[in-house]
Amino acid sequence: MTAAPATWVEVDLAALERNFDEVTRLAGPRRVIGAIKANGYGFGAVDIARALERCGAYGLWTGNVEEAIAARNAGVAGKIIMFGGYLPEHIDDLVHNDLIPTIYDRNGLAAAAQVAESRGRIVPVYIKVDSGLRRLGVPVAAAQEFARAVSDEPRIHLEGIYTHLPFADPTGRGWANDNYALFHDLLNNLARDGIHPDITQVWGSSGLLAGLSDSTNAVCIGQLLYGLAPLPSNAASATNFTPIVTALKARLIHVGQHHGGQAAISSPYVLGRAERTGVIALGTADGMRSSAIGQPMYVLVRGRPAPIIGVTLEHTVVSLNAIHEAEPGDEVILIGQSDQQSVSLADWASWFDCSPLEVAVSLLGRVAKHYENAQLTL
Ligand SMILES: *Cc1c(COP(=O)(O)O)cnc(C)c1O
Repeated sequence: MTAAPATWVEVDLAALERNFDEVTRLAGPRRVIGAIKANGYGFGAVDIARALERCGAYGLWTGNVEEAIAARNAGVAGKIIMFGGYLPEHIDDLVHNDLIPTIYDRNGLAAAAQVAESRGRIVPVYIKVDSGLRRLGVPVAAAQEFARAVSDEPRIHLEGIYTHLPFADPTGRGWANDNYALFHDLLNNLARDGIHPDITQVWGSSGLLAGLSDSTNAVCIGQLLYGLAPLPSNAASATNFTPIVTALKARLIHVGQHHGGQAAISSPYVLGRAERTGVIALGTADGMRSSAIGQPMYVLVRGRPAPIIGVTLEHTVVSLNAIHEAEPGDEVILIGQSDQQSVSLADWASWFDCSPLEVAVSLLGRVAKHYENAQLTL
């Protein structure tokens, strides 16, 4: 489409750059790797990748092969490391697209060695260690032996080793700190074996913000770069980070006038009764939902709240009973400020009963992006 979209999110890349600088300050001597998984946390993987590369990120990490290839095809030239998200037989494709695979078991190692052999080149890999998250990775107790096997492969270069210990509260912080000790011991044991990967990494946003001790040489950051708080505000000061989403907006694609009668009740769509309604092109398919907690949700039209009365697959219906002068084409603010009123990402998170991160990935992820300050250079 060449005309402006009916619904769009406004993303401030200057805020991303300021957040990157603040992460760099907190990281001290550690390298900063940007996490661009989940479509750049909803903000658009390709444009975010470009911006982070301009900011000077050491590399970009993602778990989505299509998004990584899209970034490459868009001219992102720096290191792109895959967290996972593929089978061993896809490693050849990754290497072909200059993406660095993560491996965590013998099948992955055998596949990488096979690719190196058939392509006649050195293949760099990262090892992912499971230090307690119990998701993806070679168990920390088996990691020393696995790293030795990787190092012994003549055409494999062990470029990095990392683990993931994210947390969101004080209990999690204790868990992360204890499990970090296991990874720390592993790195010491590897050093004793003469294995020194270029990159070692444990902390993401929560560990960096909490200032947990760290003997690795890199951090991999997502949430803080996007101005999403990984911890409750009392757990650590996140005040130096700004949300990079400045607005979610739409234009009314239709205004309806209804006279008397019963409001539509056709399960699962229950439209509240309103004489005047407005329609926004944003629906369940875009991550829109009904209120999880039964609290009224609203958007702003002409500076006033317009309650949401129905959510369907492609459309959201609002009541314009109190805003009679509203017309098709009027701007609708779903996130942002208008006159004295405002709606925030946090409001949607509370209505949906989820985290702001989940709102960013689901609700902002699918709509058109308008980037401000995209041309900013450092
Ligand atoms: C997503 C991810 C990160 C970044 O986490 P944030 O909390 O968003 O900073 C770091 N490491 C791994 C392995 C990840 O998957």
